[in-house]
Amino acid sequence: MPLRIDLHAHTTRSDGADSPTELVRQALAAGLDVLGLSDHDTTSGWAEAAEAAAGTGLVVIPAIELSCQVLEPGSGFPPRSVHLLGYLPNPLHPGLQQETDKIRSHRDHRLKLMVEKLQTDFDISWEEVSDHIPVGATAGRPHIAHILIEKGYFPDTSAAFAGPLRADGPYHVPHYAPRLAHGIAVLREAGGVPVLAHPYTGARSGAVDHQQDEEAILAGYQVLVDQGLAGLEIHHRENTEQGKEMLQRVAAEFDLITTGSSDFHGTKKPNVLGENTTSEANFEAILAAASGQEPLR
Ligand code: AMP
Ligand code: FE
Ligand code: FE
Ligand code: ZN
Repeated sequence: MPLRIDLHAHTTRSDGADSPTELVRQALAAGLDVLGLSDHDTTSGWAEAAEAAAGTGLVVIPAIELSCQVLEPGSGFPPRSVHLLGYLPNPLHPGLQQETDKIRSHRDHRLKLMVEKLQTDFDISWEEVSDHIPVGATAGRPHIAHILIEKGYFPDTSAAFAGPLRADGPYHVPHYAPRLAHGIAVLREAGGVPVLAHPYTGARSGAVDHQQDEEAILAGYQVLVDQGLAGLEIHHRENTEQGKEMLQRVAAEFDLITTGSSDFHGTKKPNVLGENTTSEANFEAILAAASGQEPLR
């Protein structure tokens, strides 16, 4: 039987619903052999996951989903938020630590500002929001959604995101994120393997402007590959079907690693563990390219 490999999941260390221990339990129940633990902008869940996985047969791949952005000066388009998965980086690398500390502290500040804006129209306080964010965890809009749901304003996280939490809405405040090129460089310096998360969720999403012709799109990816990009998360529920075909052509052109993942967030999102998986060959390619950290088993 081939290994069941799901390389993208979240816990309460960022915007997932389950503790690292509970995530490991659920991964085993879902019949996974390999689980990527990829909280946003923090590695603080790794130790607990390692303890929970020890002796169970589950292999945990310590990872991070780094918040980055792409700027296109002069294009007339606003900065695009891009998520970069990093597999097996050294969590103690000073450059990586500095960057993630900076992102998390800006995220805290930004979430406070969003709560202040929301107070005009909703009964919500920063104390209520921050009370259920564990110390050291990465704060995000889903933490505000939690309170809005608890108070009956919305039935679930998706509804809150379709409403006041949307990125183009009046309550939104952006947060600092490094340029994608810097994110790739930092992860490589830390011995990690950078893979673009959900790279093609719409024509005007992701690291490259996919509304261009194919030659220009390939040229855009060439730049990222030269910067050290190692792979693309192709099998993800938010990539469009047409996007997946384009991403396959990009991966073939540059001989990139390709992955499939659930991007599990527990009850915070409909994504189910193991709904997409990564082949053993691509998993082996990630292990071979990594030098920052060993898998947890
Ligand atoms: P933030 O990082 O604070 O900008 O919030 C974005 C995070 O919220 C992402 O990591 C997603 O996992 C989560 N998110 C975005 N859209 C939705 C949605 N429609 N439903 C649930 N979670 C979402
Ligand atoms: Fe998330
Ligand atoms: Fe993401
Ligand atoms: Zn994710």
